[in-house]
Amino acid sequence: MKRYIFLSYLFFISCQAEKTPEGIPQKVDALMRQMTWEEKVGQLHQAYVERPTDSIMGLIKAGKMGSMLNGRTTFYTLKDRNEMQRIAVEESRLGIPLLFAHDVVHGFKTSFPINLAQACSWNPDLVQQVAVVAGKEARSQGVDWAFAPMMDVSRDPRWGRVSECYGEDPLLNALMGSAVVKGYQGDELSEKSALMACMKHFVGYSAPDGGRDYQSTDFSKTSLFNTYLPPFKSAVEAGAFSAMSSFNEIDGTPVTASKNLIADILKEQWQFDGVVVSDWDAVVQLMDHGVADTKSTAGKRALLAGVDVEMKSDSYFSALEKGLTEEQQSAIDEACRRVLTAKFKLGLFDNPYASQDPSVEKLNRKLAKKIAQQSIVLLKNDQVLPLTESKKNIALMGPFADTQKVLGYWKSIGKSADAVSLSKALSMEKGLNISPKISPQTDLIIYCAGEQEEEFGEANSKYDCRLSAEQRAEIQALSEGDIPVVLVVFNGRPLVLTEEEKQVEGIVLAWHLGLESGHAIADVLTGRYNPSGRLPITFPKSTGQIPIYYNHKPSGRPQSNNYKGELGQPLYPFGFGLSYGHTEISEPIFSKDTFQKSDTLTFEVKVKNNSDLTVKETVQVYFHDPVAWQSQPVKRLLTFKQIDLEGRDEQVVKFEVPVQALGYYDSQGKYILEEGAIHIFSGKDAQVKSFTPINISSS
Ligand code: BGC
Repeated sequence: MKRYIFLSYLFFISCQAEKTPEGIPQKVDALMRQMTWEEKVGQLHQAYVERPTDSIMGLIKAGKMGSMLNGRTTFYTLKDRNEMQRIAVEESRLGIPLLFAHDVVHGFKTSFPINLAQACSWNPDLVQQVAVVAGKEARSQGVDWAFAPMMDVSRDPRWGRVSECYGEDPLLNALMGSAVVKGYQGDELSEKSALMACMKHFVGYSAPDGGRDYQSTDFSKTSLFNTYLPPFKSAVEAGAFSAMSSFNEIDGTPVTASKNLIADILKEQWQFDGVVVSDWDAVVQLMDHGVADTKSTAGKRALLAGVDVEMKSDSYFSALEKGLTEEQQSAIDEACRRVLTAKFKLGLFDNPYASQDPSVEKLNRKLAKKIAQQSIVLLKNDQVLPLTESKKNIALMGPFADTQKVLGYWKSIGKSADAVSLSKALSMEKGLNISPKISPQTDLIIYCAGEQEEEFGEANSKYDCRLSAEQRAEIQALSEGDIPVVLVVFNGRPLVLTEEEKQVEGIVLAWHLGLESGHAIADVLTGRYNPSGRLPITFPKSTGQIPIYYNHKPSGRPQSNNYKGELGQPLYPFGFGLSYGHTEISEPIFSKDTFQKSDTLTFEVKVKNNSDLTVKETVQVYFHDPVAWQSQPVKRLLTFKQIDLEGRDEQVVKFEVPVQALGYYDSQGKYILEEGAIHIFSGKDAQVKSFTPINISSS
């Protein structure tokens, strides 16, 4: 009887197996068995296509293109996109669909704040909601693959692309970037609104020598393992199904040719099974780096390093011309397998055509305003804000007062004409008299300074991070009068505001906030929104202080942090931001002082609102390992929580963090958690001084 049951069971299982549709790996294998080498390499070629011309259609038909991208501020019409797809699916030999890629960086149709501004919200859930909307809008026009999020930790305001990242801290970058991955990809890549996220730029691009874009990067292995790699690892854990390798050279090898970084660390150690795409022309640029003499060698080096898709250039086709070794053939097979897997996962074989999603036809002003409000940081307030009855006659001045050009560098298909300028928003406020000039009635001057969209972003590094000379002169002249001045800064990077800090009574950091810029700033100025943004990056006192960041290493000599004069401290530290209310944050309170390595660190922090206003507070928790085998940063962000406190409210915030998070990577990339004392700090910014000591024990 038992035998009969067993045989029936086997029969049942085998019937089930027959009924089970083929899995993706089998489908990929079956397809690849039919492919020529040219067709396989075709899948690895990502072409830059502005519009569907006859020659483009010819290449698609011939199977010589696996994906395509177009400009920074343009994307194909749905009709063109679908027609190109039709050629691929119906007229190419194997009918393999194309992938359409685009830089969906901080919005698609609805323009959201630049990423560094979004990081000021310290609100990954909100950043995820933004990515959901941006992703749906992009998908609705046929984007399958978004070249974002940027996971590069940046500590250098001179670098133009600092605007695109989430600041100087690995944890904050990890959380924000992972939120974007989840927002774009949803639970399953095959969902209709999901598009493939691309974590970029793997790795080291954000630390070029002197902040000069595309320069070589030169940092230690411990920096690589502790600062620059962890956000990427988190994005892999969040499910990011593609990665972009970076332009830069590091330790003798351009990343595009680095087997160690891409094949060994990313793919082997982290088990990343998605697609690695090169950056723009980066494969042919291996020749400019001086590590390849021909396109063919460049292509072969990148393939062997693990770069699956070549963006824009076509060295992989050249690699075919001179014949392939077995190793090169298997690299092509592996790369092709990854690309086809992504296409199957995205459901493109079943649903190659894109269609409009009616839920995203209108611009999402509500969400654009919410994230813009939370991105604003109040840096200084000598009792001039919020605007009150006694400050209703306002002179609104400066080059950014009227502008709608506040969409940032990667504005995608967003239109400046849809954005709300500050003058428009303030002119609609009841009870305020707004004028572009000072008059005998003027109670307050609001001066709008900043950087134009073209002053930051790619290839826009600066060696002087102050406001322009004209703006500085105007601010100085205004500050010499009797009327108080509030400076609103429309910036794309941390600016040096040292002079202005002394000259004006209030500073509001407004970045490039996108569509709802004016409304969000007006909400903060009037106090309708109590400012809650916190800096994700240190603001230096002078350009010469850069790089200056909170999580630096200690030194044997206390004066190591100083220059002659008084430049030891930054102007505004990481985590800093004011509110119109006032809160107090306690030290962390632990129920015991010794924890085992496998424990969860549980503690509480008390937060008290000493004002009558509702306040959004971000409780920041840092740690320091005072004695370790390798020198440890003076502080590292461990965790944080955001809470809303009613006026006079008091709350106990509970934290739970694995003790394992208190360790570090050594220079071999091995994670170590040592026994001994750890200092835990809780406060409002990285300059918090008092801490609670705890102990880590071995068992
Ligand atoms: C940038 C990438 C971007 C790519 C495609 C490159 O120049 O470095 O971040 O995704 O262009 O636009």
